Amino acid sequence: MPELLRDHTTLRLGGPAGRFVSAGTEAELIEAVREADQEDRPALVLGGGSNLVVADEGYPGTVVEVATRGIHTDADGGDGAASCGGVLVTVAAGETWDDLVATAVARGWVGLEALSGIPGSVGATPIQNVGAYGQEVAQTIASVRVWDRRLRGVRTFAAADCGFGYRSSRFKADPGRHLVLSVTFQLPQGDLGAPVGYAELARTLGVEVGRRAPLAEVREAVLGLRRAKGMVLDAEDHDTWSAGSFFTNPVLPAGLVPPGAPAWPQADGTVKTSAAWLIEHAGFGKGHGGPAAGLSTKHTLALTNRGAARTADLLALAREVRDGVEARFGIRLVNEPVLVGCTL
Ligand SMILES: Cc1cc2nc3c(=O)[nH]c(=O)nc-3n(C[C@H](O)[C@H](O)[C@H](O)COP(=O)(O)OP(=O)(O)OC[C@H]3O[C@@H](n4cnc5c(N)ncnc54)[C@H](O)[C@@H]3O)c2cc1C
Repeated sequence: MPELLRDHTTLRLGGPAGRFVSAGTEAELIEAVREADQEDRPALVLGGGSNLVVADEGYPGTVVEVATRGIHTDADGGDGAASCGGVLVTVAAGETWDDLVATAVARGWVGLEALSGIPGSVGATPIQNVGAYGQEVAQTIASVRVWDRRLRGVRTFAAADCGFGYRSSRFKADPGRHLVLSVTFQLPQGDLGAPVGYAELARTLGVEVGRRAPLAEVREAVLGLRRAKGMVLDAEDHDTWSAGSFFTNPVLPAGLVPPGAPAWPQADGTVKTSAAWLIEHAGFGKGHGGPAAGLSTKHTLALTNRGAARTADLLALAREVRDGVEARFGIRLVNEPVLVGCTL
């Protein structure tokens, strides 16, 4: 029986894999990808499947699931070296992201706490520079170790060479080329989280933006906010059968943000606006859609499988929303998840 990708994606969508390999060691991981490349067979690297939309027809090549494990610090004894630069923590790509965040909070490693509750693997986080509630991994990544499928060798990129931007990186810009093997984070140590950079989180914690709160409290507050929006996976709740936010927030030349829409000025003079606002004001409210695929009833930006959807249903909904926003505001939304074997 072929492995069905719907069993490996949080949208629970996607047809069969031509071949499916689960790689538990770094050597197996590199070998699986190298073998496919040598035979000129396409290979898809799969983490937690939480940012993937896979075609109903499936993926004809080899799907390589990253199942490597291991968290190592730069000090004997495992709790890291206390230094003004913080602790260096190197994490295997297949580790579950939220387990790492929980570990960081428990050990007093600062800088990941606002990223609590994001599904998926550690190795995928540099791909789109995962971010939420005022933090993004670019702020704490020291380096990313990869297998370069073009040069056929292991390389290490310092953070400054990763091309991190809003939901982007050199890895996302050059799709499929780099297999992330491990990520090294540089994390200050302490009991208080990093300064809170997001107004809604600051309000929930009862602090001002820019102030700090205890690590564990930040984690709990973020998990609470995310649960209320259907942004923490829950098998019983169809609002979480998604790939998270389906569209990125558009970054526009100043002056092109519609009147009344949120406007967050960027360092380069452009302005970021809210995709959720645009979608709602184009007439697509929470819960919009058919019985198969619909917007989450808790969060306009999440496109969800209500239980019996096919990928075609989800894509039809995505096109309806994207085209409706473009017709109303002249702004074309861009999908955040990676589309495999399908297009919008
Ligand atoms: C409920 C929900 C909430 C979410 N909230 C957020 C959020 O707040 N912020 C945010 O940024 N994202 C969010 N996401 C999106 C998603 O969780 C992240 O993008 C996550 O990092 C994807 O990890 P993954 O392991 O599931 O990657 P996958 O979906 O398996 O893969 C995504 C892409 O990364 C590639 N990839 C995966 N692992 C590797 C590797 N080791 N080396 C090279 N390439 C790799 C894949 O080939 C694919 O192109 C959310 C998703 C869901 C379902």
